[in-house]
Amino acid sequence: MNKTISLACGNGGEENNELISQVFYKAFKNDILDKSEDAAIIHNGELAFSTDSFTVSPLFFAGGDIGKLAVCGTCNDLAMMGAKPKYLTCSVIIEEGFETRELEKIVRSMKKELGINGAIVVSGDTKVVPKGSVDKIFINTTGIGEVLKKGISSNNITKDDIIIVNRDIGCHGAAIFVAREGIEMSSSLRSDCESLFPQVKALLDANIKITAMRDATRGGVSAVLNEWAKQSNICVEVEEESIPISDEVKGICEMLGFEATALANEGTFVLAVNHDDAERAVEILKTFESCKSAAIIANVTDAYPKKVVLKSSWGTSRFLDTPSGELLPRIC
Ligand code: MG
Repeated sequence: MNKTISLACGNGGEENNELISQVFYKAFKNDILDKSEDAAIIHNGELAFSTDSFTVSPLFFAGGDIGKLAVCGTCNDLAMMGAKPKYLTCSVIIEEGFETRELEKIVRSMKKELGINGAIVVSGDTKVVPKGSVDKIFINTTGIGEVLKKGISSNNITKDDIIIVNRDIGCHGAAIFVAREGIEMSSSLRSDCESLFPQVKALLDANIKITAMRDATRGGVSAVLNEWAKQSNICVEVEEESIPISDEVKGICEMLGFEATALANEGTFVLAVNHDDAERAVEILKTFESCKSAAIIANVTDAYPKKVVLKSSWGTSRFLDTPSGELLPRIC
C-alpha cells in the first residue's frame, strides 16, 4: 500500500479493492463482511443492510441529481440481494453558503425515488461545515430491506448460469463526464440512474431462478464480472458484440480512450440466472422502458484461468481485467 490515499483508491477497481481488503477487511474481519455482497445479509437471512456515500460533481446532471442517486444507490444494493428496500437513513454534510433552494430540490428528488421503492427515511443527521471544508454537499444513506428471496449470492455462480445485463451500459459515467466538462452535445445521452427494485420484483414474481445480481456502479460491468469470477471461482466468457452500448456512449469512449465496460452505471445491473430461465428473464426486463436493450452477454465455464475472457466476433479473445487508475473521480 502507498503511504497516502490516491484518487484511484476510490475508483471501484483494483486500487479500491486493495484499500478495502488491506485496511477495512483486515480490521473488521467477520463472516458477514467476508461474503463481500452488495448488502450484508443479517437476522437469519431475513434482512439486507447496506450503506453508501455520495459526492457526485456536478450535483445536477442529465437523468438525475445527487438526491436521486443517494436513494437509488442504497436501495439498488438492497434490491441486488433480492430484498425490498424499506427503511433508510439520510445523513448530509453541507458546505456553509449552500443554497437552501438547491437543498430542497435535492430532497424532493430523494422523496420521489423513495416512493418508487416504497421506502421511507426514518433517521438522519445534518452537519454544516465552514466554506471550503466540503464541496457543496455530501450525502450518506444507509438502508434496510426485507429479503423476498433468500440465497441470492455472488459466491454461488456455476456453469449452469447465464449472465445477462438489463440495459445498455456506461450511460452514467459518460453523462457525468459530459456535464463536468461542459461539452455541448445535441444527443439524448442521460445517466441511467434508476431504482432497480421494480425490475427485480418482476423477475422474482415470475420465479426466475436468480443466482446472483450486482449493480455495475464504479468500475462498471468489468468490475462486477471480475468480482464474480473471483468470488465464485469461475471463468466468465463474454461475447463482446453482445454487450449493449449506445452510439453516444461509444462516441464518448472513443474521445476519452475508455472502455464502456469500465464506465460507471447507476441503474444497470448484471444478473446470473439458471440457463433454463435466461431467455424469459431478458423478455421480462425488456418490458421496462429503460431495458429495451437487455441482453445475454456471457456464459460461465469451468475453464482455466478463472478470469473474464472477452471474445470478439472475429474469433480472437483477451482478458477483461478489473479497471485500474483514476478513471473519473466523484462519479457518485
Ligand atoms: Mg452495488
